[in-house]
Amino acid sequence: MTAPASLSRLRRAAPASANDLRAWPLIRTLVGFDTTSRDSNLALIEWVQDYLAEHGVESHLTFDDGARKANLFATLAARDGETLKGGVVLSGHTDVVPVDGQPWDTPPFEATAIDDRIHGRGTADMKGFIATALAFVPEWCSQPLTRPVHFALSYDEEVGCIGVRRLIADVAARGLSPTGCIIGEPTGMELVIAHKGKHSFRCRVRGHEAHSSLTPHGVNAVQIACEIVTYLTGIARGFRDEGRFDGAYDVPFTTVHTGVIHGGTALNIVPRDCWFDFEVRHLPFDDPQDILDEVKAYAERFLPEMHAVDPHTGIEFEQLSRSPGMDVDHDNAIVAIAKCCSGSTTTGKVSYSTEAGLFHDASMPAVICGPGDIAQAHQPNEWISLEQLGHCETFMQRLTHELVTPR
Ligand SMILES: [Zn+2]
Repeated sequence: MTAPASLSRLRRAAPASANDLRAWPLIRTLVGFDTTSRDSNLALIEWVQDYLAEHGVESHLTFDDGARKANLFATLAARDGETLKGGVVLSGHTDVVPVDGQPWDTPPFEATAIDDRIHGRGTADMKGFIATALAFVPEWCSQPLTRPVHFALSYDEEVGCIGVRRLIADVAARGLSPTGCIIGEPTGMELVIAHKGKHSFRCRVRGHEAHSSLTPHGVNAVQIACEIVTYLTGIARGFRDEGRFDGAYDVPFTTVHTGVIHGGTALNIVPRDCWFDFEVRHLPFDDPQDILDEVKAYAERFLPEMHAVDPHTGIEFEQLSRSPGMDVDHDNAIVAIAKCCSGSTTTGKVSYSTEAGLFHDASMPAVICGPGDIAQAHQPNEWISLEQLGHCETFMQRLTHELVTPR
């Protein structure tokens, strides 16, 4: 994202070295845990739990089915003891994407300060934010907060926003009703108030094998799959050329994309099986279910011909993931709070999906605002600038002011 002039309000002199950052020891600790999504995040979660406990803050954990991974939710009470109503949730995912096969110049699970940057997996996405927020726990515990502040740390965000669903269900079941949620995904500390929804699907075509000299005796799964993929491409073109648009997004229309296709075994065999995965990243006013219904209706036209050769042939669609989009009203209280803290007068919308949509769906309006650039996320030599972390620290200082001011 490009930084508009409004960001200058957040600027202060960039920290001269990592040691000038309040969060530096925490960044080193958090980056030091290898929390690649496929592995356990418990070591990190237990460390944070102990850290909070040292400040008298109790954590609430929710686990995955195998109890290998956990979400952590913790509340710093307001001075009147209020923990349930109001307040701000600071939220981040603890998992990171793999470093396998990536050329790293520094140890990926070690925060390394070089010049005006800190390198390490998760520095931008999004342990820099989590560390900066946690670094304010001692201060918030000693301040007369008029509203509670909550921490929400999730697992398995990078593999489909899986873990946070349990955290949100638990928070709702315990009767918490925070004012809203700030998700610290890297936005360059710009305020993002909307993102697209993302639905992904798998289509399986079951054909009928035959010698390739006898194609009429077979049902070619690859060719039928390609017809459906081509139809999806047509739908995508329709959105691009004639769809409804929202110019506030970097990609201002709903997109449809096929990313993986597998089919066939040898050229001289009419292929029996082919499957492909496609995704829809949609604007709030487009419904991915309509797109799925349309493509299913198109696929059905192949069935009579397929069944005439073999009644066991068919086409199946399966939903792989579902992440809702979100679009917060400009006048929502959490937008006002985030504007105050970031100094932002403008807001943006993004095409990637985050956990914000799930909070939003659970009546916890969410905005996205965090240090670093999404372009550095998932890359080898992932880094975050000291300047961005300095902005994030300023954001938290202003949040302190917000939290102690009666409203
Ligand atoms: Zn992230």
